[in-house]
Amino acid sequence: MIEPVQSCVYCGVAVSVTADHVPPKAFFPRPRPSNLKTVPACFACNNAAGRDEEYFLAALMFSDAGVTEPGKKLWNQKLQRMYAKNLGLRRHIGSALQAVQLTTPAGIHLGRRMALSIQEPRLEAVATKIVRGLHFLETGSAAPADWDVMCLFVRERRHVEAVAQYNHMLIPARIRGHRSFSIVAELSLVSR
Ligand SMILES: [Zn+2]
Repeated sequence: MIEPVQSCVYCGVAVSVTADHVPPKAFFPRPRPSNLKTVPACFACNNAAGRDEEYFLAALMFSDAGVTEPGKKLWNQKLQRMYAKNLGLRRHIGSALQAVQLTTPAGIHLGRRMALSIQEPRLEAVATKIVRGLHFLETGSAAPADWDVMCLFVRERRHVEAVAQYNHMLIPARIRGHRSFSIVAELSLVSR
């Protein structure tokens, strides 16, 4: 029996020739879980978000995720090497850091911290790929190419819950007549 040709789950056009990790393999410190998920992808889509994924990881180090055990492992195993090799990224992160005065929602002044000014389109590119990959893993079919992936950047931690709560209302309103598929992930990029 001849296997049907599987097209790339991201572009839906090219024939898949490789297995792309969802979420990206680089987001897991070693030893990596043995059951990482992959989706069929073409070479172009497989490689498209590589630089953005590095940026995503570097930005993540400035969030609460950077001080968790997996975050520290990632820093030691990957980020240091990445910074050494990718001078552009290092320069960019350096220039995007700025001093801010940090205050808790209750008004407690935490003093001066360093904060990273983020490039939303680059985080969005990575998130879009992950969402499309997860859609395929969940449903067994690629999300139609004309579906938009909406990324909401929430500035305040206290708003994250509200977004999660209203997510199901927001999304069908935007894509009336289509089935919706949504994921809420929190990535906080607060200074530390
Ligand atoms: Zn593709």
